[in-house]
Amino acid sequence: MKDRSLLMIPGPIEFEPAVLQALGAPTTSHVAPGFIDAFGRALENMRQVWLAPEGQPFIVAGSGTLAMEMAGANLIEPGDRALVLSTGVFGDRFEDLLSRHGADVTVLRAPIGQTLDFNRVEDALKGGGYKLLTVTHVDTSTAVRMPICSIGDLARRHSVLSVVDGVCSVAGEEIQQGDWDLDVVLTASQKAIGVPPGLALLVASQRAMEAFSARSTPVRSYFADWEKWLPIMAAYEGRKPSYFGTPAVNLVAALDVSLRQIVDEGMTARFARHELLAGAFRAGVRAFGLDFVTTEPDHRANTLTACRYPEGVAAADLLSAIKHAGVIVAGGLHPEIKTEYFRVGHMGAVRMADILATLGAIEIGLRSVGCAVAAGIGVAAALEWQAGNED
Ligand code: PMP
Repeated sequence: MKDRSLLMIPGPIEFEPAVLQALGAPTTSHVAPGFIDAFGRALENMRQVWLAPEGQPFIVAGSGTLAMEMAGANLIEPGDRALVLSTGVFGDRFEDLLSRHGADVTVLRAPIGQTLDFNRVEDALKGGGYKLLTVTHVDTSTAVRMPICSIGDLARRHSVLSVVDGVCSVAGEEIQQGDWDLDVVLTASQKAIGVPPGLALLVASQRAMEAFSARSTPVRSYFADWEKWLPIMAAYEGRKPSYFGTPAVNLVAALDVSLRQIVDEGMTARFARHELLAGAFRAGVRAFGLDFVTTEPDHRANTLTACRYPEGVAAADLLSAIKHAGVIVAGGLHPEIKTEYFRVGHMGAVRMADILATLGAIEIGLRSVGCAVAAGIGVAAALEWQAGNED
């Protein structure tokens, strides 16, 4: 039997063959004309994918955590106050990160599986004195999607910069950085952007760039300093060579391919596809009788689903049975409920066939750990949902 399995974790994901081909092509010089073109085009296409026509894109070798660090390092000066809105592990990560850069951090934490009440946020901001707020659009540990369309407005009213961790949402969940007036939207390559791990990606508003320029102290990270990277981005976008740190040549070439595919699909169609497939997947999960970690139905992410194990089922047994059936899903991540749930990613190049295969594998898994499930019940529910919700 062919040794292959379907990777349905919340990143890295399954990648398009053309993207992998670009990754596997012979590496060129980082100042070769073809590469300069690819880099420049990728920067331009980021504005389209982020829906941020005025934004300043950055492409830097690293993971999503570096993108978070770039936002913090460049916008925080020692003593600045920051408000962290946390809906899980990745929200919490900002607390330590911003503190390392000298921020005085206040964290507002939502109960596990819920969004954060905006009245609490408003009250905290009314206290005044904050320079920055961070919000995790989709926290990958809880699959909670925060409603971020009004965050920019909230930030403006309180003269605060907004930083959105979109690692598990950019190019999968609707984000209109320009219209929603968000100051930094950051992500990593390995999720809905559809490129193997290794690139930190972010787009900063003009306001964020002005706040950066107005700093009175140097950025406390050498590698993350926008002053180093801004001329590099400007050069490549102007189709000129430049150098600060060697770019991840093959990953940038792969990013160029993936962003072109995303732009070709169209952002509205792409968001709708993620919504449709997520809805179909959740219908299947419900048909199995499983609960969701995310308790508010309107705030369940379209990029991943967090499913609670049935009563009495050992996590390792179910996950390995699903894997044996050919699909890899992820275990729990939030330390307080880690053993109580598993996570399934459905973003990027995902199709209905992947959703059905995953539900089929979960069904096989459930049966093998002794749960009584009617044959095909998850797949049938997903197909029914699709039929009722497709335009
Ligand atoms: N934020 C979120 C919402 C994430 O899901 C992740 C990764 N799972 C990160 C930040 C950190 O990204 P990375 O692992 O690429 O450093």
